[in-house]
Amino acid sequence: MALLQISEPGMSTAPHQRQLAAGIDLGTTNSLIATVRSGQAETLSDLNGQHLLPSVIHYHADKAPVVGHDAYQYMANDSENTLSSVKRLLGRGKNDLKTLLGTLPYVFADTDSMVPRIKTVAGEVSAIEASAEILRVLKQRAEAILGDELSGVVITVPAYFDEAQRQATRDAAKLADLNVFRLLNEPTAAAVAYGLDKKEEGVIAVYDLGGGTFDISILRLNKGVFEVLATGGNSALGGDDFDHVIAEWVLAQAGLTHTDDKDLLRQLSVAARIAKEALSDSAEATLSLGNWQGVLDQATFQQLVEPLVKKTLKSCRRALRDAEISKNEIMDVVMVGGSTRMPYVRRRVGEFFERPPLIDIDPDRVVALGAAYQADVLAGNKPDGEMLLLDVIPLSLGIEMMGGLVEKVISRNTTIPVARAQEFTTYKDGQTAMSIHILQGERDTVETNRSLGKFILRGIPPLSAGVARIKVTFQVDADGLLNVSAEEASTGIKAQIEIKPSYGLTDNEIETMLRESMENAQGDMELRRLREVQVEADRVLEALDAAMQTDADALLDNIEKECLLEARQRLLEARQQDNHDVITNAMKALEKTAEFYVERRMNLSIKTAMSGHNVDEF
Ligand code: AMP
Repeated sequence: MALLQISEPGMSTAPHQRQLAAGIDLGTTNSLIATVRSGQAETLSDLNGQHLLPSVIHYHADKAPVVGHDAYQYMANDSENTLSSVKRLLGRGKNDLKTLLGTLPYVFADTDSMVPRIKTVAGEVSAIEASAEILRVLKQRAEAILGDELSGVVITVPAYFDEAQRQATRDAAKLADLNVFRLLNEPTAAAVAYGLDKKEEGVIAVYDLGGGTFDISILRLNKGVFEVLATGGNSALGGDDFDHVIAEWVLAQAGLTHTDDKDLLRQLSVAARIAKEALSDSAEATLSLGNWQGVLDQATFQQLVEPLVKKTLKSCRRALRDAEISKNEIMDVVMVGGSTRMPYVRRRVGEFFERPPLIDIDPDRVVALGAAYQADVLAGNKPDGEMLLLDVIPLSLGIEMMGGLVEKVISRNTTIPVARAQEFTTYKDGQTAMSIHILQGERDTVETNRSLGKFILRGIPPLSAGVARIKVTFQVDADGLLNVSAEEASTGIKAQIEIKPSYGLTDNEIETMLRESMENAQGDMELRRLREVQVEADRVLEALDAAMQTDADALLDNIEKECLLEARQRLLEARQQDNHDVITNAMKALEKTAEFYVERRMNLSIKTAMSGHNVDEF
């Protein structure tokens, strides 16, 4: 069996020994660690009974950095050495962050490296290293409480994190000496905490309103596989904004709209937050500012925050549209984030989705708790007889593209179950069928990969090349069973195939394929470039032939025709040679020769389009 079988307790030599495992919510503002004890997930606190660890790191010149509440106090007076919200920088290069870098209070090092590094008194640090500090503290906390080393952890990441951000999270864990069983999407973890993964299938909305951000995710659950259908939200909308509208109201009531007294404003924002949180349990809250004292009641509060709530619902509507899901298809709505404690938010979300949202689990802890359940399963701590496998895809899975190239859809080492979709299009005008050839391996060309199966999607509407949209979905379930389906967007026609990717390949074979792919990486890259340019040349030749057949006689004289055909012949000959540059040059030459022809064709098509119309109509 080629899938990596990490643990199978039924066969374990020490069947009664539980493996210590934990779930970690590595958050932008706060982080948490949780574990399963006696079948129940619980978050673990520090010595002061605090569960939330602020994701803040303060660096010192001569001692180890401090993390969490202890680092907080330095935020105001030593901001250069006190890093917060580093999650926003994880996996990001300097180019991605051009707009963000200037707004952060840190000094960035001027290095050649594409990864931004922040200058601190303790040296330059990257977001990965800073995140590792947070993870280290959580690891120590868990090991101190549980009395032994963690065998592994599940770390949650936002559903919209790309491969680079996920890899950076893994790297941070490696630095913190943590074994990562799996990264888990935050909304999926929240759904797991509510046991929704036990259901057969359905669509779930996860509404996550924290202190500074809002995320909405639409997930489809199908036999234990969560697929992210859509994500949306607003990275600058959260509980802080609710505080802000209350503070503004107080200023207006007290007749102090134009104050710029920083201390007063800071105090007011704290008071506003307290009032907001009090209103989650009481009918009204009292506020004061200087000589002014007033009462904020529910009705006024709701009126003040209504625009903010509306904004989140607008994102929900958009996410549903992106997911092509209607509200009544949503099976459950999961609430995540401290701000979903507000009864008004709960009510409005319930009204929007037309069903009461799930609120029983502490919205600050729900993600960490779900991750803990997942970690417990992956560590093999489930009753005997249950399938307890942590599987990864041993070799990448992809499909054949024009020119005999392979496009990877799921990369090697992705943990399963997993579902990924990618859009492809047609190569020829009027193409009505598409052959989907599924391959396994790391190399770039079909011959050097292993063929897993083929199927044909028929009934694609005959459109111009590149217009049809064919969504190919690869889904690998927990048993390593691969299901590939292809669907044409406009007609909805579908075809699919089921394959067992892991069968037939021994571990030795996998090793050989991996070794070969590394040894041949350079050659493969060159071959890929060559194949790509060959495909391009074929396309140019085909387009030219089609055009000439239509209107060469009308638009070209004999000499012009001959010139073009000569350039065409040269490209055809170059195409036969396995040399990237020769083909590129011949293609450029043909394009140059054809310029005047292209121009005449364009003029003709404009004339045709306009014939019978008045110029003013255009
Ligand atoms: P999080 O980022 O998920 O920890 O959420 C923090 C946000 O939740 C802050 O804006 C808090 O003011 C808010 N919050 C926490 N508890 C409550 C509550 N009981 N009522 C309203 N908002 C709350």
